[in-house]
Amino acid sequence: ELDQAVQARVEKWVRSDIQSLKAYQVADASGLIKLDAMENPYTWEEELKQQWLAEMQQQSLNRYPDPSGKSVVAGLKEVFGIDQRYDVLLGNGSDELIQIIIAALAADNLTVLSPEPSFVMYEMIAKFLRVNYVGVPLGNDFTLDLTAMLDAIEAHQPGVVFLAQPNNPTGNLFGEEKVRRIIEASPGLVVVDEAYLAFAESNALTLLADYSNLVVMRTLSKVGLAGLRLGFLVGHPGWINELNKVRLPYNINQLTQVSAQFALLHYNQLAEQITQLVVDRERLFESLQQLEGITVWPSQANFLLFRSLTVPAKALHQALIKEGVLIKCLDGAHPLLTGCLRVTVGAPAENEAFLKVLSALLS
Ligand code: PMP
Repeated sequence: ELDQAVQARVEKWVRSDIQSLKAYQVADASGLIKLDAMENPYTWEEELKQQWLAEMQQQSLNRYPDPSGKSVVAGLKEVFGIDQRYDVLLGNGSDELIQIIIAALAADNLTVLSPEPSFVMYEMIAKFLRVNYVGVPLGNDFTLDLTAMLDAIEAHQPGVVFLAQPNNPTGNLFGEEKVRRIIEASPGLVVVDEAYLAFAESNALTLLADYSNLVVMRTLSKVGLAGLRLGFLVGHPGWINELNKVRLPYNINQLTQVSAQFALLHYNQLAEQITQLVVDRERLFESLQQLEGITVWPSQANFLLFRSLTVPAKALHQALIKEGVLIKCLDGAHPLLTGCLRVTVGAPAENEAFLKVLSALLS
Protein backbone atom coordinates (compact mmCIF):
# COMPACT_ATOMS: atom_id res chain seq x y z
CA GLU A 1 0.00 0.00 0.00
CA LEU A 2 2.81 2.39 0.87
CA ASP A 3 4.47 1.38 -2.39
CA GLN A 4 1.40 2.47 -4.30
CA ALA A 5 1.31 5.78 -2.47
CA VAL A 6 4.98 6.31 -3.29
CA GLN A 7 4.31 5.54 -6.93
CA ALA A 8 1.42 7.97 -7.06
CA ARG A 9 3.53 10.79 -5.62
CA VAL A 10 6.45 9.99 -7.89
CA GLU A 11 4.17 10.13 -10.90
CA LYS A 12 2.71 13.41 -9.77
CA TRP A 13 5.94 15.17 -8.85
CA VAL A 14 8.88 13.78 -10.80
CA ARG A 15 9.12 15.54 -14.16
CA SER A 16 7.45 13.39 -16.80
CA ASP A 17 10.45 13.70 -19.14
CA ILE A 18 12.64 12.28 -16.34
CA GLN A 19 10.18 9.46 -15.71
CA SER A 20 10.42 8.44 -19.34
CA LEU A 21 14.25 8.38 -19.35
CA LYS A 22 16.36 5.30 -18.74
CA ALA A 23 19.19 5.55 -16.19
CA TYR A 24 22.72 5.38 -17.65
CA GLN A 25 23.39 1.68 -18.19
CA VAL A 26 26.71 0.11 -17.26
CA ALA A 27 27.17 -3.52 -18.31
CA ASP A 28 28.19 -6.04 -15.66
CA ALA A 29 31.77 -7.03 -16.46
CA SER A 30 32.34 -9.60 -13.73
CA GLY A 31 34.45 -12.47 -15.00
CA LEU A 32 34.88 -10.85 -18.41
CA ILE A 33 37.82 -9.32 -20.23
CA LYS A 34 36.77 -5.71 -19.89
CA LEU A 35 37.22 -3.75 -23.11
CA ASP A 36 34.07 -1.64 -23.01
CA ALA A 37 34.84 1.58 -21.15
CA MET A 38 38.11 3.13 -22.39
CA GLU A 39 39.94 2.32 -19.20
CA ASN A 40 43.69 1.83 -19.04
CA PRO A 41 44.15 -1.93 -18.42
CA TYR A 42 47.32 -1.46 -16.36
CA THR A 43 47.62 -0.89 -12.64
CA TRP A 44 50.69 0.59 -10.95
CA GLU A 45 53.85 -1.34 -10.27
CA GLU A 46 53.84 -2.80 -6.78
CA GLU A 47 56.44 -0.40 -5.39
CA LEU A 48 54.49 2.63 -6.49
CA LYS A 49 51.30 1.13 -5.13
CA GLN A 50 52.95 0.66 -1.74
CA GLN A 51 54.13 4.29 -1.74
CA TRP A 52 50.61 5.41 -2.52
CA LEU A 53 49.17 3.28 0.28
CA ALA A 54 51.72 4.74 2.70
CA GLU A 55 50.54 8.19 1.66
CA MET A 56 46.92 7.21 2.16
CA GLN A 57 47.74 5.96 5.63
CA GLN A 58 48.61 9.51 6.66
CA GLN A 59 45.12 10.71 5.81
CA SER A 60 42.19 11.24 8.08
CA LEU A 61 38.68 11.80 6.91
CA ASN A 62 37.09 13.85 9.68
CA ARG A 63 37.69 17.17 7.91
CA TYR A 64 36.32 18.37 4.60
CA PRO A 65 38.82 18.37 1.75
CA ASP A 66 40.45 21.52 0.35
CA PRO A 67 37.45 23.17 -1.34
CA SER A 68 39.30 24.27 -4.45
CA GLY A 69 41.83 21.43 -4.68
CA LYS A 70 44.74 23.90 -4.87
CA SER A 71 47.48 21.29 -4.76
CA VAL A 72 45.83 19.14 -7.39
CA VAL A 73 45.45 22.17 -9.64
CA ALA A 74 49.14 23.01 -9.14
CA GLY A 75 50.07 19.43 -10.06
CA LEU A 76 47.89 19.48 -13.18
CA LYS A 77 49.35 22.81 -14.31
CA GLU A 78 52.84 21.43 -13.93
CA VAL A 79 52.30 18.05 -15.61
CA PHE A 80 50.20 19.33 -18.51
CA GLY A 81 52.02 22.62 -19.04
CA ILE A 82 49.03 24.84 -18.34
CA ASP A 83 49.95 28.52 -18.53
CA GLN A 84 49.55 30.44 -15.27
CA ARG A 85 47.23 32.95 -16.95
CA TYR A 86 44.51 30.27 -17.20
CA ASP A 87 42.42 28.93 -14.35
CA VAL A 88 41.45 25.31 -13.72
CA LEU A 89 38.12 24.02 -12.44
CA LEU A 90 38.01 20.49 -11.04
CA GLY A 91 35.07 18.16 -11.54
CA ASN A 92 34.02 14.77 -10.24
CA GLY A 93 34.88 13.37 -13.65
CA SER A 94 34.44 15.56 -16.70
CA ASP A 95 30.81 14.47 -16.63
CA GLU A 96 30.35 16.82 -13.72
CA LEU A 97 32.05 19.64 -15.62
CA ILE A 98 29.62 19.19 -18.50
CA GLN A 99 26.82 19.51 -15.97
CA ILE A 100 28.38 22.61 -14.42
CA ILE A 101 28.85 24.30 -17.80
CA ILE A 102 25.31 23.65 -18.98
CA ALA A 103 23.82 24.54 -15.58
CA ALA A 104 25.65 27.87 -15.50
CA LEU A 105 24.38 28.81 -18.95
CA ALA A 106 20.97 27.17 -18.78
CA ALA A 107 18.13 29.51 -19.68
CA ASP A 108 14.83 29.02 -21.47
CA ASN A 109 16.35 29.73 -24.83
CA LEU A 110 19.71 28.01 -24.39
CA THR A 111 20.77 25.58 -27.09
CA VAL A 112 23.57 23.05 -26.64
CA LEU A 113 25.02 21.83 -29.92
CA SER A 114 27.47 19.10 -30.84
CA PRO A 115 28.31 16.91 -33.79
CA GLU A 116 26.84 13.43 -33.56
CA PRO A 117 27.48 10.66 -32.90
CA SER A 118 29.59 11.97 -30.04
CA PHE A 119 29.77 11.60 -26.27
CA VAL A 120 26.21 10.94 -25.12
CA MET A 121 26.38 12.97 -21.92
CA TYR A 122 26.26 16.29 -23.79
CA GLU A 123 22.72 15.51 -24.88
CA MET A 124 21.72 13.68 -21.70
CA ILE A 125 22.76 16.53 -19.40
CA ALA A 126 21.11 19.09 -21.69
CA LYS A 127 17.92 17.06 -21.26
CA PHE A 128 18.32 16.81 -17.47
CA LEU A 129 18.64 20.58 -17.35
CA ARG A 130 15.82 21.14 -19.83
CA VAL A 131 17.72 23.01 -22.47
CA ASN A 132 17.51 22.46 -26.23
CA TYR A 133 19.94 20.06 -27.77
CA VAL A 134 20.90 20.07 -31.45
CA GLY A 135 23.02 17.25 -32.89
CA VAL A 136 24.68 17.84 -36.26
CA PRO A 137 25.45 14.57 -38.08
CA LEU A 138 29.07 13.85 -38.96
CA GLY A 139 29.85 12.89 -42.55
CA ASN A 140 29.61 9.23 -43.56
CA ASP A 141 33.30 8.77 -42.89
CA PHE A 142 32.83 10.44 -39.47
CA THR A 143 34.71 13.57 -40.48
CA LEU A 144 33.25 16.82 -39.26
CA ASP A 145 30.81 18.31 -41.74
CA LEU A 146 31.96 21.90 -41.41
CA THR A 147 29.26 23.36 -43.65
CA ALA A 148 26.52 21.61 -41.71
CA MET A 149 28.06 22.73 -38.42
CA LEU A 150 28.38 26.35 -39.52
CA ASP A 151 24.82 26.36 -40.84
CA ALA A 152 23.50 24.87 -37.60
CA ILE A 153 25.44 27.38 -35.51
CA GLU A 154 24.02 30.20 -37.60
CA ALA A 155 20.49 28.83 -37.34
CA HIS A 156 20.43 27.85 -33.65
CA GLN A 157 22.83 30.37 -32.08
CA PRO A 158 24.00 27.82 -29.48
CA GLY A 159 25.20 29.07 -26.09
CA VAL A 160 27.43 25.99 -25.82
CA VAL A 161 29.11 23.84 -28.48
CA PHE A 162 30.83 20.62 -27.43
CA LEU A 163 33.58 19.22 -29.66
CA ALA A 164 35.24 15.99 -28.53
CA GLN A 165 38.76 15.88 -29.94
CA PRO A 166 39.39 12.95 -30.54
CA ASN A 167 35.73 12.10 -30.80
CA ASN A 168 34.02 9.28 -28.91
CA PRO A 169 32.90 6.83 -30.33
CA THR A 170 34.52 7.47 -33.72
CA GLY A 171 38.12 7.94 -32.51
CA ASN A 172 39.06 10.61 -35.05
CA LEU A 173 40.29 14.16 -34.65
CA PHE A 174 38.21 16.82 -36.35
CA GLY A 175 41.31 18.88 -37.11
CA GLU A 176 42.48 22.22 -35.80
CA GLU A 177 41.37 24.26 -38.80
CA LYS A 178 37.75 23.10 -38.49
CA VAL A 179 37.80 23.58 -34.73
CA ARG A 180 39.01 27.14 -35.24
CA ARG A 181 36.28 27.84 -37.78
CA ILE A 182 33.65 26.59 -35.33
CA ILE A 183 35.02 28.66 -32.45
CA GLU A 184 35.08 31.73 -34.69
CA ALA A 185 31.50 31.17 -35.86
CA SER A 186 30.10 30.42 -32.39
CA PRO A 187 28.30 33.18 -30.53
CA GLY A 188 28.71 31.40 -27.19
CA LEU A 189 31.13 29.08 -25.45
CA VAL A 190 32.95 26.25 -27.23
CA VAL A 191 34.12 23.35 -25.08
CA VAL A 192 36.86 21.28 -26.68
CA ASP A 193 36.70 17.97 -24.83
CA GLU A 194 40.15 16.39 -24.89
CA ALA A 195 39.30 13.28 -22.85
CA TYR A 196 41.47 11.17 -25.20
CA LEU A 197 44.24 13.70 -25.71
CA ALA A 198 46.95 11.43 -24.26
CA PHE A 199 46.55 9.07 -27.23
CA ALA A 200 46.42 11.74 -29.92
CA GLU A 201 48.50 14.43 -31.51
CA SER A 202 46.59 17.57 -30.73
CA ASN A 203 46.36 20.15 -27.97
CA ALA A 204 43.65 22.78 -27.74
CA LEU A 205 45.39 24.64 -24.89
CA THR A 206 47.40 26.44 -27.56
CA LEU A 207 44.16 27.86 -28.97
CA LEU A 208 43.13 29.51 -25.70
CA ALA A 209 45.32 32.53 -26.38
CA ASP A 210 43.40 33.23 -29.60
CA TYR A 211 39.79 33.03 -28.40
CA SER A 212 37.57 34.54 -25.73
CA ASN A 213 34.91 31.80 -26.10
CA LEU A 214 36.95 28.62 -25.65
CA VAL A 215 37.46 26.31 -22.68
CA VAL A 216 39.36 23.01 -22.77
CA MET A 217 38.11 19.98 -20.86
CA ARG A 218 40.26 17.03 -19.85
CA THR A 219 40.09 14.03 -17.54
CA LEU A 220 42.40 11.62 -15.76
CA SER A 221 39.97 8.76 -16.44
CA LYS A 222 41.41 7.46 -19.71
CA VAL A 223 45.07 7.63 -18.72
CA GLY A 224 44.76 5.14 -15.91
CA LEU A 225 42.83 6.82 -13.11
CA ALA A 226 39.18 6.17 -13.95
CA GLY A 227 38.53 5.16 -10.35
CA LEU A 228 39.51 8.58 -9.04
CA ARG A 229 36.85 10.54 -10.95
CA LEU A 230 38.82 13.67 -11.73
CA GLY A 231 38.10 15.92 -14.67
CA PHE A 232 39.44 19.44 -15.21
CA LEU A 233 38.48 22.43 -17.21
CA VAL A 234 41.04 24.99 -18.34
CA GLY A 235 40.02 28.47 -19.38
CA HIS A 236 40.22 32.20 -19.03
CA PRO A 237 39.56 33.28 -15.42
CA GLY A 238 36.40 35.12 -16.50
CA TRP A 239 34.70 31.86 -17.53
CA ILE A 240 36.14 29.70 -14.77
CA ASN A 241 35.07 32.19 -12.05
CA GLU A 242 31.46 32.04 -13.18
CA LEU A 243 31.37 28.27 -13.68
CA ASN A 244 32.93 27.80 -10.25
CA LYS A 245 29.83 29.36 -8.67
CA VAL A 246 27.75 26.41 -9.84
CA ARG A 247 30.19 23.78 -8.54
CA LEU A 248 29.02 22.07 -5.36
CA PRO A 249 31.33 22.61 -2.39
CA TYR A 250 33.94 19.88 -1.80
CA ASN A 251 33.15 18.08 -5.05
CA ILE A 252 36.60 16.49 -5.11
CA ASN A 253 36.94 14.21 -2.11
CA GLN A 254 40.03 13.95 0.06
CA LEU A 255 41.10 10.52 -1.15
CA THR A 256 40.88 11.64 -4.77
CA GLN A 257 42.85 14.81 -4.06
CA VAL A 258 45.65 12.98 -2.31
CA SER A 259 45.75 10.16 -4.86
CA ALA A 260 45.71 12.57 -7.80
CA GLN A 261 48.61 14.57 -6.39
CA PHE A 262 50.53 11.35 -5.91
CA ALA A 263 49.68 10.08 -9.40
CA LEU A 264 50.72 13.37 -10.98
CA LEU A 265 54.10 13.20 -9.25
CA HIS A 266 54.57 9.79 -10.86
CA TYR A 267 52.93 10.59 -14.17
CA ASN A 268 55.88 9.09 -16.07
CA GLN A 269 54.61 5.62 -15.19
CA LEU A 270 51.23 6.40 -16.74
CA ALA A 271 52.95 8.02 -19.73
CA GLU A 272 54.84 4.77 -20.38
CA GLN A 273 51.61 2.79 -20.27
CA ILE A 274 50.02 5.23 -22.71
CA THR A 275 52.92 4.86 -25.14
CA GLN A 276 52.41 1.10 -24.99
CA LEU A 277 48.66 1.44 -25.55
CA VAL A 278 49.22 3.57 -28.64
CA VAL A 279 51.54 0.90 -30.07
CA ASP A 280 48.99 -1.79 -29.25
CA ARG A 281 46.17 0.26 -30.75
CA GLU A 282 48.00 0.28 -34.07
CA ARG A 283 48.59 -3.48 -33.82
CA LEU A 284 44.96 -4.13 -33.03
CA PHE A 285 43.91 -1.85 -35.88
CA GLU A 286 46.07 -3.77 -38.34
CA SER A 287 44.77 -7.11 -37.09
CA LEU A 288 41.17 -5.94 -37.38
CA GLN A 289 41.86 -4.69 -40.89
CA GLN A 290 42.88 -8.23 -41.86
CA LEU A 291 39.57 -9.72 -40.75
CA GLU A 292 36.88 -10.43 -43.31
CA GLY A 293 33.42 -9.15 -42.49
CA ILE A 294 34.28 -5.94 -40.67
CA THR A 295 35.32 -2.40 -41.45
CA VAL A 296 37.55 -0.70 -38.88
CA TRP A 297 38.31 3.01 -38.67
CA PRO A 298 41.69 4.46 -37.67
CA SER A 299 41.70 5.99 -34.20
CA GLN A 300 43.61 8.59 -32.26
CA ALA A 301 42.10 7.43 -28.98
CA ASN A 302 42.43 4.28 -26.85
CA PHE A 303 39.61 2.46 -28.63
CA LEU A 304 38.67 1.35 -32.13
CA LEU A 305 35.31 1.59 -33.82
CA PHE A 306 34.39 -1.16 -36.27
CA ARG A 307 31.36 -2.22 -38.24
CA SER A 308 30.22 -5.79 -38.60
CA LEU A 309 29.17 -6.38 -42.20
CA THR A 310 27.87 -9.94 -42.02
CA VAL A 311 26.99 -10.97 -38.47
CA PRO A 312 24.46 -8.60 -36.84
CA ALA A 313 26.31 -6.39 -34.33
CA LYS A 314 24.07 -7.22 -31.38
CA ALA A 315 24.51 -10.94 -31.94
CA LEU A 316 28.26 -10.47 -32.23
CA HIS A 317 28.30 -8.49 -28.99
CA GLN A 318 26.37 -11.20 -27.13
CA ALA A 319 28.51 -13.97 -28.59
CA LEU A 320 31.67 -12.13 -27.47
CA ILE A 321 30.27 -11.88 -23.93
CA LYS A 322 29.53 -15.61 -23.98
CA GLU A 323 33.16 -16.19 -24.87
CA GLY A 324 34.31 -13.94 -22.05
CA VAL A 325 34.93 -10.59 -23.77
CA LEU A 326 32.98 -7.43 -23.06
CA ILE A 327 33.06 -4.61 -25.63
CA LYS A 328 30.48 -1.92 -26.41
CA CYS A 329 27.71 -2.37 -28.93
CA LEU A 330 26.70 0.90 -30.58
CA ASP A 331 24.25 -0.51 -33.08
CA GLY A 332 21.04 1.49 -32.75
CA ALA A 333 22.67 4.34 -30.82
CA HIS A 334 22.73 6.56 -33.92
CA PRO A 335 21.87 6.04 -37.60
CA LEU A 336 25.55 6.48 -38.56
CA LEU A 337 26.51 3.71 -36.14
CA THR A 338 24.39 0.94 -37.60
CA GLY A 339 26.26 -2.34 -37.16
CA CYS A 340 29.02 -0.68 -35.14
CA LEU A 341 30.91 -1.84 -32.06
CA ARG A 342 33.67 -0.18 -30.05
CA VAL A 343 36.57 -2.00 -28.46
CA THR A 344 38.92 -0.42 -25.93
CA VAL A 345 42.61 -1.20 -26.36
CA GLY A 346 43.63 -3.55 -23.56
CA ALA A 347 46.81 -5.34 -22.58
CA PRO A 348 48.30 -7.46 -25.39
CA ALA A 349 46.89 -10.73 -24.03
CA GLU A 350 43.40 -9.17 -23.79
CA ASN A 351 43.59 -7.84 -27.34
CA GLU A 352 44.73 -11.26 -28.56
CA ALA A 353 41.88 -12.98 -26.74
CA PHE A 354 39.39 -10.54 -28.25
CA LEU A 355 40.80 -11.02 -31.76
CA LYS A 356 40.74 -14.79 -31.43
CA VAL A 357 37.12 -14.88 -30.35
CA LEU A 358 36.09 -12.30 -32.94
CA SER A 359 37.76 -14.04 -35.85
CA ALA A 360 36.20 -17.36 -34.83
CA LEU A 361 32.78 -15.74 -34.70
CA LEU A 362 33.22 -14.10 -38.09
CA SER A 363 34.44 -17.18 -39.94
N1 PMP B 1 34.27 13.14 -22.66
C1 PMP B 1 34.35 12.12 -23.50
C2 PMP B 1 34.53 12.39 -24.95
C3 PMP B 1 34.22 10.80 -23.03
O1 PMP B 1 34.25 9.79 -23.88
C4 PMP B 1 34.05 10.58 -21.64
C5 PMP B 1 33.95 9.21 -21.03
N2 PMP B 1 33.40 8.23 -21.79
C6 PMP B 1 33.98 11.68 -20.80
C7 PMP B 1 34.10 12.96 -21.35
C8 PMP B 1 33.71 11.57 -19.34
O2 PMP B 1 34.82 11.14 -18.65
P1 PMP B 1 34.94 11.25 -17.07
O3 PMP B 1 33.64 11.69 -16.50
O4 PMP B 1 35.35 9.89 -16.64
O5 PMP B 1 36.02 12.27 -16.84
